[in-house]
Amino acid sequence: MQQLKDKVAVITGGNSGIGKAAALLFAQEGAQVIITGRRQDVVDETVGEIGHDAIGVVGDVSDLEHHKKLAEIVKTRFGGLDVYMANAGVINLTASGKVTPEDYDRHFATNTRGVFFGVQALAPLIRDGGNIIVTSSLAATKVLPDHTVYAGSKAAVAAFAKNWAIEFKPRKIRVNILSPGPVETEILGKLGVSEANRPAFEDYMASLIPAGRMGRPVELARAALFLASDVAGSFVNGIELHVDGGMTLA
Ligand code: NAD
Repeated sequence: MQQLKDKVAVITGGNSGIGKAAALLFAQEGAQVIITGRRQDVVDETVGEIGHDAIGVVGDVSDLEHHKKLAEIVKTRFGGLDVYMANAGVINLTASGKVTPEDYDRHFATNTRGVFFGVQALAPLIRDGGNIIVTSSLAATKVLPDHTVYAGSKAAVAAFAKNWAIEFKPRKIRVNILSPGPVETEILGKLGVSEANRPAFEDYMASLIPAGRMGRPVELARAALFLASDVAGSFVNGIELHVDGGMTLA
C-alpha cells in the first residue's frame, strides 16, 4: 500500500541530500511531489530523476515572493497540498568571534526566515488533516564546536514548529520536527572545513555517533515519511524526531 497515495507534497531544498531522498521516496509512495531549489539545471535534473510527474520551482527561500509564487502554482495546479516539508538550509561552521553579520544573516535568512515565511504562505493551502515537517538539526539541542549561529537558526524553527502544532489545531494539521545528526550530503562540503581537514572532521563526527557512522539521506527520508504519512504518523504531533544514530545522547 502506498502511504502517500493522492497526496500533494512540497519539499523545499528537494534537489539535493535529505530533501531529494524524501522527494524520491514520497513520489514512490504515491505523492504528487513539488520540489524547490535554487538552481534551474539541478532542479530540472532532479525532477527527471524523481519522475511520477514531479514538478520543480526555482527560487530562494529567503525571498518572500518565491513563497507566494510557489503557493500560486500549488493552488492553480493542485488546489492545495497535504504535506509541506520545510527543509532547505545552509551551514557554515565559524567560531562566534569570527562570525560576520553576513554569515549571521545568511543562516537566519535561509534556515529561519525561509521556514517561517514558507509556512505563512503555504499553510493556508494545506488541506485539513495535512502536516508540516520542519527540518531542524541535532545542533539545536546539542552543543557542537563552531555551530553557534547555525544552532540558533535551527533552534528557532523547532520553536516555531511547536507553536504551529497548537496554532493549526483547529485544522488538524500536524507539525513535527525532523532533527538529523550528521548525514552524508552535499552540505558537508559547505561547512567551511577545508578539503584537507574533511576526512579528519568526518571521522571525528562518526566517532561521536553511537552508530559509528554518519547517516544516509534515505534514512532521513524514511523518518520524514513516517511523520508525513497518515498510515504511521497519524497520532504524532509536535515531536522532535532525532534521527542521528544516538548522537543526541553521546
Ligand atoms: P544539501 O546541501 O544537500 O541540501 C540543502 C538544500 O537546501 C539544497 O537543495 C539547496 O539548494 C537548498 N537551499 C539552500 N539554501 C537555499 C535557499 N536560500 N533557497 C532555496 N533553497 C536553498 O544538505 P542536506 O544535508 O540535505 O540539508 C537538508 C536540511 O537538513 C538542511 O536544513 C540542513 O541544515 C539539515 N541538516 C543536515 C544535516 C547533515 O548532516 N546533512 C544535519 C542536520 C541538519
